[in-house]
Amino acid sequence: MPRSIGVQVVADGLTARETECLKRAISAVNGLQSQFQVGDAIHKIALPGKRNVLKEGASFDALSRRARKDRLFCVTPWSFAGNDFQVADQRCSLLTIGDWEEEYAPPSLQTFIVYQFAFAFLTWAADNVSDKVLVHKKTIGCRMDYCRNKRELKLGMLAGYICPKCKGHLRQLDATPAQISAIERILDYVQAVSKGEDRVPEDWDSAFVVMRFSEDDENQAAFEHGIKPGLRDVGIVARRADDVIESRPLLEKITSQILSSRFIVAKVDARRLNIYYELGLAMGHRKDVVLVSEEKWTNRLPSDLSNWECLTYPKGDYAALRRKVAKFYRENYARG
Ligand SMILES: [Zn+2]
Repeated sequence: MPRSIGVQVVADGLTARETECLKRAISAVNGLQSQFQVGDAIHKIALPGKRNVLKEGASFDALSRRARKDRLFCVTPWSFAGNDFQVADQRCSLLTIGDWEEEYAPPSLQTFIVYQFAFAFLTWAADNVSDKVLVHKKTIGCRMDYCRNKRELKLGMLAGYICPKCKGHLRQLDATPAQISAIERILDYVQAVSKGEDRVPEDWDSAFVVMRFSEDDENQAAFEHGIKPGLRDVGIVARRADDVIESRPLLEKITSQILSSRFIVAKVDARRLNIYYELGLAMGHRKDVVLVSEEKWTNRLPSDLSNWECLTYPKGDYAALRRKVAKFYRENYARG
């Protein structure tokens, strides 16, 4: 699995409120996916030219040249030439947010910035092309619409999707399915909050462990001695619905835990069938799911699950399980 793409944020001239919105947007984007890791710090680069930054002095090119290992996501309050509001090449994206709150909100400025992150990510996922190649002229609500004004962009925020044609195009340009899915997760979020839905923010640093257990059984031991310490080794807190009674409130509790968790660890075997409902729920909400199973059950799991990553361990070897869990998260989700 390729490493995630690192992104640095650069801004200049923002008000305190705009900076706060940008910070919240960064945290939302990082909480929603792991393919693009946006640094928390907002760096300052004074942009030459101020108004019409693109027209005067080619400041976008200057910014783009500064992008080395990480991509640059640059934000300014100043307007561009030609009423463009975001431009991106394979290293750098420049966004103007100046008139959003006055002229176009709702959706909120924060949501608008999140949506523009999705645009930059799409450009960077399709390596070696600029937004000029990717966008289409027609406004159909796709994230790759070329919008002549921000009002058209609001349609895209409410539609929150990438059209099938663009998706195919992105695949041809070597965007990975994981990257596309990460961007779609951001778009789902934008759509929901643009419609006024409350979105429970996902908690990056915790994983919900889906399993059934009772005192001193195998699952309890696997959780205490394998999964929980393995996650702790990589800075993730393991959560579990500490309740063994099968009741409706328990299911509601589990559902809300699944929705608010970024990661799901599901301990599967061929006996506890309730787990498969919860697993389906988690997969349907595009959570990052990993399966855990004792080796002896591996061949007896439903064939639909054969494509999913399953961490197995010999019976009773919880130290091995702990190592596997830590290794898996370190390799796939380590934050740069
Ligand atoms: Zn499209």
